[in-house]
Amino acid sequence: MPERSESESRKLLRRLRDTLATPAKGQERLDRITHMIADSMRTEVCSIYLFRDESTLELCATEGLNPGAVHQTRMRLGEGLVGRVAKTSTPINTGNAPAERGFRFMPETGEEIYSAFLGVPIQRLGERLGVLVVQSKTARQYSDDEVYALEVVAMVLAEMTELGAFIGEGEALSALHQQPVLIRGLTGQEGSAEGRVWLHEPRVVVANPVGDDPKKELKRLNKAVEELRLSVDAMMSGSEIVDKDHQQVLETYRMFANSRGWLRRMEEDIQRGLSAEAAVEKEQSTTRARMGQVPDPYLRERLHDLDDLSNRLLRILTGQGRDTGAAMPENPVLVARNIGPAELLEYGRKLKGVVLEEGSVGSHAAVVARALAIPLVIHAERITTEALNGDAILVDGDQGVVHLRPEDTVAGAFRDKIAMQAEAQSRYASLRELPALATCGTQISLHMNAGLMADLPSLAGSGAEGVGLFRTELQFLLRSRVPRRGELAALYSRVLDSAKGKRVVFRTLDIGSDKVLPYMKPQDEPNPAMGWRAIRVGLDKPGVMRMQLQALIRAAAGRPLSVMFPFVAQMSEFEAARRALLSEIERERRAGHVLPTSTEIGAMLETPSLAFAPRSFFELADFVSIGGNDLKQFFFAADRENERVRRRYDTLDVSFLDFIGRIADRCAETNTPLSFCGEDAGRPIEALCLIAMGLRTLSMRPASIGPVKHLIRRVNLAELRAVIDDAREAGALTVRPAVMEWLARQPM
Ligand code: PEP
Ligand code: MG
Repeated sequence: MPERSESESRKLLRRLRDTLATPAKGQERLDRITHMIADSMRTEVCSIYLFRDESTLELCATEGLNPGAVHQTRMRLGEGLVGRVAKTSTPINTGNAPAERGFRFMPETGEEIYSAFLGVPIQRLGERLGVLVVQSKTARQYSDDEVYALEVVAMVLAEMTELGAFIGEGEALSALHQQPVLIRGLTGQEGSAEGRVWLHEPRVVVANPVGDDPKKELKRLNKAVEELRLSVDAMMSGSEIVDKDHQQVLETYRMFANSRGWLRRMEEDIQRGLSAEAAVEKEQSTTRARMGQVPDPYLRERLHDLDDLSNRLLRILTGQGRDTGAAMPENPVLVARNIGPAELLEYGRKLKGVVLEEGSVGSHAAVVARALAIPLVIHAERITTEALNGDAILVDGDQGVVHLRPEDTVAGAFRDKIAMQAEAQSRYASLRELPALATCGTQISLHMNAGLMADLPSLAGSGAEGVGLFRTELQFLLRSRVPRRGELAALYSRVLDSAKGKRVVFRTLDIGSDKVLPYMKPQDEPNPAMGWRAIRVGLDKPGVMRMQLQALIRAAAGRPLSVMFPFVAQMSEFEAARRALLSEIERERRAGHVLPTSTEIGAMLETPSLAFAPRSFFELADFVSIGGNDLKQFFFAADRENERVRRRYDTLDVSFLDFIGRIADRCAETNTPLSFCGEDAGRPIEALCLIAMGLRTLSMRPASIGPVKHLIRRVNLAELRAVIDDAREAGALTVRPAVMEWLARQPM
């Protein structure tokens, strides 16, 4: 790098900093900056365009163009050369602007006489803020060093925009982080919440983008990188690393932390006048820009790792840790790119909602959010870039939509919706002690699903008759190693204690598929949902299953024990699992331990095959529980995790309801108790139709018990069955329209 240009960019930065340091209002400050840049770079024109909204750029300050065009000239993203710079996030440097593709003549600015054009994006960490342009009459290309200098200035401008340096009195020159934003993501957990943003990883603020003394800044950078390397080494030798994936991520960290290229680029930026943290951030911005363009998912992951590493480095340099000392706002809504289940559980129920940029319906965080009944929106693109700590936020978990800094009217309508839901909930509370008795006299048993100790208080609050499904995998997912028998026995015992004699059905470990234990060797399966999961793992590797069964037997000493095995596809699997449980009981008996007073052993019917099992299976099983989530995915061959297809088939589809009816009939033949514990049990209309097909026990989220009971108490099930049968006879694909129409005619 030639020495001259080095001092050029440094000189430019120093002048910029002086300009920024002088007290001025937003507009005045921008005017001074354009004047200073034009003067320093000896070019006739310098202009700053900022985004007015997501897709409109506005000329906000200029030196050299017609001053009357300021705040008048606007362009769409992608329009003209300025719009193209913004859209592609790459500079345009041309000696003959009018000949460039997309050049747009704007008479009001009087710009046709300028041939040379250099535009660079103003952006911060992948967020587009505007465009900085210099132009001159001489038809020449700007040198690489001039391009570099302007890019660095643009970056500092971006930092200053973030710090609100251009917000004038009453005049918002930059719309950044102030305007309402609507983000459409996906439903992770239903429910609505209003609150204030709490960033899991607060944005690092770089207050001093310009460095005075490159030597000092280089020293700071090198010291921070050293600290980073040590911390990565410590992580690698730490006992937490248990699986290959994790190891690989850390290896990548180590590779980057030791990469000369990465460090060299940052050192060069410091030489050119940036502070150490600004140099890190510049590198991070480049990474983010690349992240958006790389199609290969593996490479994108690695760029993610690099991004994480830059974050760590920035936090070391600025001393801004996760704990910034800021107080969590009231009604916090957690906003994060992603979060682990243990971290989410640590926040616990104090969160009103959770919004994630990544995540998936079956992710462990989603499992925890569901267990805690916290509304969750996933795949909320750009939320961590858009949201600032303390911003007002509305989370609509039902629609998978987030309103950030909402307009009053939107917030008002949302509040009405929440109020209506709360009112309905209080109406349901009055039903708590009443039976789920239909007008025809049929009584239904409503149970709740649980997975955490924290769920148990809902047993009394919701009016559930018991826990129809206790998912035991959370205790396994939340730990970095297999939990010990003693730990599990103590937990199951506490669950039974808090159930105060109500029935709790423990489902043995259902892992594999979407639920991968952090310490389990990842199985590279082409189709994990149909792969080595649940009871298949339990039977092939009986150690963990036996340990869990022992824990259950011990926890239930002196009281009844109910156990069910997940994902049974064949009678022989159930027989083997049942034998394992009985032999563990026998062992306990021989050891002289107190035994459960009774033992019920059931099977989850989650694959169509089990519906066709021999009659002896239904005789052997003490009860059968339909895992509707899995059963439906296999019935329609539609992946429950795949957004494209998961809502494609209606539960009220005639063929599926017919199938449910046949299962109910088979259980009735042998007097085998049957329940349904998938999500559909908690959807009032679906629940009604399942009951009409013969189900008498449903298990659902605690919050659904009220609405489901309310509806059951309003209807005559025999009549509903006739409506369903008529619709089927008439050749309907789904009975939903007929059922809805009939329901609308029922007295409130
Ligand atoms: C189901 O499949 O319906 C079920 C209850 O089990 P899970 O959702 O845990 O797979
Ligand atoms: Mg299942």
